[in-house]
Amino acid sequence: MALQAVWTSLQTATITTNARHQMSACSSCQSAMFMNVFSGLRIGRASSLCSLASPQQSVAETRVALQTSGVDQTSTRSQQYLNAPVLSKGVQKVDSGNKFLLGKSEEELVDLAVNLGEQKYRGKQIHQLLYKTRAISIDDFHHLPKVFKEVLLSEGWQVGRSAVHHVARSTDGTTKILLRLADNLLVETVGIPVQDKKGAITRLTACVSSQVGCALRCAFCATGKGGFSRNLKPHEIVEQVLAIEDLFKHRVSNVVFMGMGEPMMNLPNVLAAYRSLNKDIMIGQRMMTISTVGVPNTIAKLATHKLQCTLAISLHAPNQELRSQIVPSARGYPLEALLLDCRNYFLETGRRVSFEYTLLDGVNDRPEHAEELANLLHHWKLGRHVNVIPYNPISDSEFRRPKKAAVMAFVEALGARKVTASIRQTRGLDANAACGQLRNDFQKVPMAAV
Ligand code: SF4
Repeated sequence: MALQAVWTSLQTATITTNARHQMSACSSCQSAMFMNVFSGLRIGRASSLCSLASPQQSVAETRVALQTSGVDQTSTRSQQYLNAPVLSKGVQKVDSGNKFLLGKSEEELVDLAVNLGEQKYRGKQIHQLLYKTRAISIDDFHHLPKVFKEVLLSEGWQVGRSAVHHVARSTDGTTKILLRLADNLLVETVGIPVQDKKGAITRLTACVSSQVGCALRCAFCATGKGGFSRNLKPHEIVEQVLAIEDLFKHRVSNVVFMGMGEPMMNLPNVLAAYRSLNKDIMIGQRMMTISTVGVPNTIAKLATHKLQCTLAISLHAPNQELRSQIVPSARGYPLEALLLDCRNYFLETGRRVSFEYTLLDGVNDRPEHAEELANLLHHWKLGRHVNVIPYNPISDSEFRRPKKAAVMAFVEALGARKVTASIRQTRGLDANAACGQLRNDFQKVPMAAV
């Protein structure tokens, strides 16, 4: 789901009734993610805001900020990324050959090697080079014979890693990376660390984008306001996780598809990336969350894959009328149909669906909305927990952040109807670097050379 607002840090938020969750989030969009402490590594949803570097901050400044904040920037690979030249001004079409090694399985790479006249083990070597050694170009395939590398290059193959265009980091360590894709479009990805008292990372979550921009244009969303460019290819999703691991020098433990774009509008590529993240990068299925605002016919399709990830639904309203105002695409997908699909998803996969609700001041934040929401969940037997997300204002938005009292009243009204809620605690509201917004700021204007 969308990267909309500013992202967040790990915080323990106020919890309503009987559950206490530590929340973490990148919240690009208002539908950020929460991490349920009680369940160890299981992802729920959460939020917070962080103070980010301004979009105008130079890469050099960012590098200094990262050094002083403990993120190791000394590796050759990181240096290569941060020093990568910015080639373009504006958006240009680049024919990148469409042959990307990243995202391919070991079996596919073995087949590729054999088809190119090599032994099977060469394909296994490429798999290691991509996912263990983290080669960023075929030139880095040092274990391969020069002649094989030349064949790969002459056949148009490339690894499929993109240059880092910009890095912004919050005071709590949450870090946003802006990747410059082969066609010079920019896409955001966010790394959200959880640290112990000594500052060691105990969990690192990647909030990944599935599209460049988004066509659904939810009323409150920065990504939606930036328009839609294209779907991301599988390797462009996978590389976001690798970029975060490179920057943090730590393995990503959790992945949430809550960055720019609507994952269900790019389902084949999201599923391919999901496979690679699980099988090639070895991130457990239950450590991943796919978030959607709801797209007709896609939840049933997803259910047929019987994934073990969490499916998160961004409701944002307790009734169809209000939901259609906040999420215009919902006009073609009645709330009843969405909840029926959620119910069937649970029956098909055995995996509970989680719900998010962005609170917009004076729009959907009244206790009567909470009552209606609780009744809805009870009626459909769809769980008793909601992730409540106080809206993070973005520029040019007519929506406002709800008052704290309104948030608490909403949560109490849910609790009174036996629905628990996690509140996303935000900070850094003055930071002009909301997810979606950061990309918009850079993509609207010519990209300055680093
Ligand atoms: S416009 Fe797209 S990216 Fe933004 S919240 Fe809606 S579905 Fe998510």
